[in-house]
Amino acid sequence: MRKPAAVAEKAAAGFGSVDEVLALVRSRGGRATSSRRILLEVLFDSSDHLSVEELTAAVQDRAPDVHVSTIYRNLEDLQRLGVVVHSHLGHGPATYQLASLAHAHFVCERCGRRFEASDDLFRGLARAAKARLGFAINPHHFAIQGRCADCQAEPDDAAALDPSEPGRGSTWTGGREA
Ligand SMILES: [Zn+2]
Ligand SMILES: [Zn+2]
Ligand SMILES: [Zn+2]
Repeated sequence: MRKPAAVAEKAAAGFGSVDEVLALVRSRGGRATSSRRILLEVLFDSSDHLSVEELTAAVQDRAPDVHVSTIYRNLEDLQRLGVVVHSHLGHGPATYQLASLAHAHFVCERCGRRFEASDDLFRGLARAAKARLGFAINPHHFAIQGRCADCQAEPDDAAALDPSEPGRGSTWTGGREA
């Protein structure tokens, strides 16, 4: 269903302005609505990842009557055209940005610090996945979780609170497994 994504993404990388994207929208039979223009202006103005909530707030700053459902619909259309991509950086909501800015991330699962991971870090994995499984990886969609340098020395506080940890679930008799 999203087969032309790679092609579209390549095209999107060449879009330097809101007007160029709106020209693409029109060429695919879409309408260059003012809500679409404002959403694109917000995306072009920001170098950061923005959740739907943040995008909505920024769009409504400029046009208070644009409904969040319109923003969702516009994001879907712009993703289909390869202009916008979303990524999941952790447990929070998906975040959106221009496809031309897409990159991979490492996120510390303890402190939440985020690192941009350049694509060449995935070259070996990409080659191996392709050779062994015929699989083409997309390192941009989900962040890689792990521990930053500072947090590696810290105790694993998540495990300390985990009641399923051996020795802590001593009242469980083993007879109620569903
Ligand atoms: Zn996703
Ligand atoms: Zn950390
Ligand atoms: Zn990022």
